[in-house]
Amino acid sequence: MTTPRIEVDLSKIRQNARHLVDQLTPLGISVVGVTKGVCGHPDVARAMLDGGVAALGDARVTNVERMRAAGITAPVLLIRTPMLGQVDRIVRTCGTSLNADMDVVETLAHAACRAGRIHGIVVMVEMGDGREGMPPSAVSRFARRVMALPGVVLAGLGANFACLNRRAPDRVAMGAFLSLVPLVERACGVPLRVVSGGNSANLAGLRPGATRLNELRLGESILLGRNPLTGEPIAGLATDAFTLVAEVIESRTDAQRRGAGAMPEGLSRPDAGAASLLALGDQDTDTGGLSMPGLLTFLGSTSDHLLLRTPGQALAAGTEVRFGLNYSALMRAMSAPDIATVVRDAPATRRPLPGRGAQRDLEPT
Ligand SMILES: *Cc1c(COP(=O)(O)O)cnc(C)c1O
Repeated sequence: MTTPRIEVDLSKIRQNARHLVDQLTPLGISVVGVTKGVCGHPDVARAMLDGGVAALGDARVTNVERMRAAGITAPVLLIRTPMLGQVDRIVRTCGTSLNADMDVVETLAHAACRAGRIHGIVVMVEMGDGREGMPPSAVSRFARRVMALPGVVLAGLGANFACLNRRAPDRVAMGAFLSLVPLVERACGVPLRVVSGGNSANLAGLRPGATRLNELRLGESILLGRNPLTGEPIAGLATDAFTLVAEVIESRTDAQRRGAGAMPEGLSRPDAGAASLLALGDQDTDTGGLSMPGLLTFLGSTSDHLLLRTPGQALAAGTEVRFGLNYSALMRAMSAPDIATVVRDAPATRRPLPGRGAQRDLEPT
């Protein structure tokens, strides 16, 4: 099979989504499955929907268009503030977007009117992460202005925690966010349908008990089964839905390396011991975000090469090496033109992959 490739096990994504949906439903929280980490891959999006997510979310309209072109009709939330030049495409493909800029909302409203559609606006509040959103004191006035525009409807409030500053979302900030809901409802005279409280980092802090929080936007937890802040696995979730497979193109044994007398005088080579060079590089993924199989260790990477120390074993050219990925490695690999995506579903995962018989493959630990 072609390398490098990402193997995706859809049954694990479906199960992760199902597990989180089952946990959050009793709390009155619905899940938006965030697909930006897989560039809006339609099969992954469908697995999320099969697992029960209520809607999909992506940061880029190009990814949303990819899902629409594949026939996905589920509601889509654009989770990044729209660019002015993309509003027509956005109102055509996304029912709702996260917003905090009145020029953008007005431009969206014009586009929605032109298209004969109503576009939902979730007003983003900045609760300490420092990335998107407006200060809490500005929200009510902004929401009233949204309500006055034709073509758009005030869908609700949103906040994002722990993206830019990597600080765990604390209960004080969440409480302050939720306390805005009745204030805005009073100022606007309408109930807010959506109270969108954050991302996978918020899962750890959820407590049973009635709050107005009714939506979380979950990417990393569904895709990789991990808490984005700590990198720790989340109980009950699969962490190995994605595997990156790359191929050895040069191998050197310790003995070959010790024959360093063969180097021209005055030159030395880095003492790497047994090492293998793989056809995978910085252009393909975040090589620092790969988890190494077995005893292999990372020695370095360049645009097109990955050098691994392979103690005690020389991996012959053609050997496939299998890596786990963190979110940043996954996101880059899924958008890299030279990495194939091979999708498997439950029945196929029980069969050996074709073409691997003679090769010694290494599984990520
Ligand atoms: C990426 C993103 C998410 C999803 O974050 P995860 O940590 O992957 O769950 C949610 N909301 C916004 C605004 C985002 O940009």
